[in-house]
Amino acid sequence: MLLQENVALAPLTTLQVGGPARFLVEAQSLSDIREAVQFAQSRDLRLFVLGGGSNLVVSDTGFPGLVLKVAMAGIERRPGTHEGKVLFDVGAGESWDRFVSHAVRAQCAGIECLSGIPGSVGGTPVQNVGAYGQEVSETIESVEAFDLRDGQLRDLCAEACGFSYRSSIFNTSERGRFIILRVTYALAPGGEPHLEYADLKQHFAGRETRPDLAETREAVRHIRARKGMLIVEGDPDSRSAGSFFKNPVLNESQHEDLRKRAEAKGFTVPSYPALEKNRKVSAAWLVEKSGFARGYALGHMAISTKHALALVNRGGATSAEVLALKDQIQNRVEEIWGIHLEPEPVFVGG
Ligand SMILES: Cc1cc2nc3c(=O)[nH]c(=O)nc-3n(C[C@H](O)[C@H](O)[C@H](O)COP(=O)(O)OP(=O)(O)OC[C@H]3O[C@@H](n4cnc5c(N)ncnc54)[C@H](O)[C@@H]3O)c2cc1C
Repeated sequence: MLLQENVALAPLTTLQVGGPARFLVEAQSLSDIREAVQFAQSRDLRLFVLGGGSNLVVSDTGFPGLVLKVAMAGIERRPGTHEGKVLFDVGAGESWDRFVSHAVRAQCAGIECLSGIPGSVGGTPVQNVGAYGQEVSETIESVEAFDLRDGQLRDLCAEACGFSYRSSIFNTSERGRFIILRVTYALAPGGEPHLEYADLKQHFAGRETRPDLAETREAVRHIRARKGMLIVEGDPDSRSAGSFFKNPVLNESQHEDLRKRAEAKGFTVPSYPALEKNRKVSAAWLVEKSGFARGYALGHMAISTKHALALVNRGGATSAEVLALKDQIQNRVEEIWGIHLEPEPVFVGG
């Protein structure tokens, strides 16, 4: 195990803010993980598990404990099929988008709409990553994890992961308990791409033949790039943590209250199947209709010029500035619409 001290965390995240980690270990094996855990426990240090750093806001004071970056990569396809599906065992440190590309090339369907999402495979079950009509909960077969409670390895089936919208046991009831080592995905060989989402339908409008998986992947990446939701070298709008707020899930009376407030202002609350399915409301719409224009800046932070939900580091931002912009948006949305926007990224340290 290679133990590093006082390592800058900002360059290890897509938002690029925050101070250093007191200690950092990049784990290449299970034995590195065991050794790092033992080191942290013997010194009573807090432990934070780092993947690709694409969903994080690191505090300006950094993290006073041990950051464990899980780096074990690799994609293994099991022979044959299991209940009609092909199983892929993928190391937590593998790049998520590399795995999607691999699956698409192997003509296996189920994750093509999740193309272009940054981060690691190990990060995907944590918030049940989703986009353009697919969520990883639909294709995860099981998750292998190191249990910090007793040092044992656990094989958690999808049901045990407790998936729901942007949520699982890993970021709620069992937060901080598991280090994810490997995720097994069950994909449909020769399956058709999932083309339910409005943006995708629009992209392929007028086509006579059904797009294949590779074309769907390219379309998703294209749409993402347009929205600043693809990490593109040199594009300042991609220095973000993706969507900063979750779409609020409302009950009937909250929804009725929102509808009335919108009506009084001459607006109609946008509604489309992907939102209705989970009784969600578009957080981007709430932000824009609270008077925040795309490109609105506060200090070194700004709302992306391409998407109202992405908060972008314009260069040299601090995490205090991230929090200031977050608070301003949350407060104004709450004041105008009576809805509390919940942040999506994980706040580290502080
Ligand atoms: C441009 C952009 C676009 C995005 N688009 C989307 C999108 O469409 N949909 C979506 O859902 N998300 C999106 N995201 C958010 C992010 O990419 C995902 O949440 C991603 O899965 C995070 O993975 P990561 O490896 O980067 O995790 P990190 O950011 O490193 O960590 C996030 C959380 O997961 C935990 N974690 C990571 N790895 C492990 C592990 N091996 N074991 C245990 N815990 C672990 C961390 O402790 C932390 O709590 C986007 C982000 C960006 C920057």
